[in-house]
Amino acid sequence: MMFEHVIYSCAIAIFVGMVYHRVTGRDYSWIIILCAFAPDIDVAANTVLKNFGFTLLFEGHKIYHGAFHNIAIMVIFGIAFAFLVHPFGIKFFDALFFSMIGFAAHLFEDALAYKSAYMFLWPFSSKIMGIGLLPEILSEENYSYDFFRIANGEVLVIGLLLLLVAIIIRTYLDGPSWIRYYMPDILYEKFFRKYVVSSGMHER
Ligand SMILES: [Zn+2]
Repeated sequence: MMFEHVIYSCAIAIFVGMVYHRVTGRDYSWIIILCAFAPDIDVAANTVLKNFGFTLLFEGHKIYHGAFHNIAIMVIFGIAFAFLVHPFGIKFFDALFFSMIGFAAHLFEDALAYKSAYMFLWPFSSKIMGIGLLPEILSEENYSYDFFRIANGEVLVIGLLLLLVAIIIRTYLDGPSWIRYYMPDILYEKFFRKYVVSSGMHER
């Protein structure tokens, strides 16, 4: 799963951003989409370290795919991310919240897809868990990329529907101006603002 993570994370970001914005007046939910691949860094970490001649041990084992798919790495990642973006004017808590949600969203998506996925609750439990909503997908090994070899068609269609529902609900409740939180200001001013304003719903 790669492309699917982007779609599902977009849907989750739009919902979470809507609620967070209502509470705080701020929306950095683009961070959720940015972090959509974060747990899969374990694949890259292993390759990169191997090239440098290192073998990093994680709980006494080599880093394998899925090693970062747990709540311990989620917290470490969130804190590191928050420090990293703090100089750019993003409040520590905002960055921590959205990056951990982004990381958790990836874990949740993997769990939805795979019946036996990863040790999500490590270090509290070493049980390999998963929800596995689609009966034909058991784990990552038998995941089929039947949509142009980039995604699983079924998983993708469900994700696109969720994304559509998220867009419709947020636009209905907030008006279309929420789109501004997913792009740099300059891009919004140049291309989107006039449409949002002409819809008459920008100040909702
Ligand atoms: Zn994953």
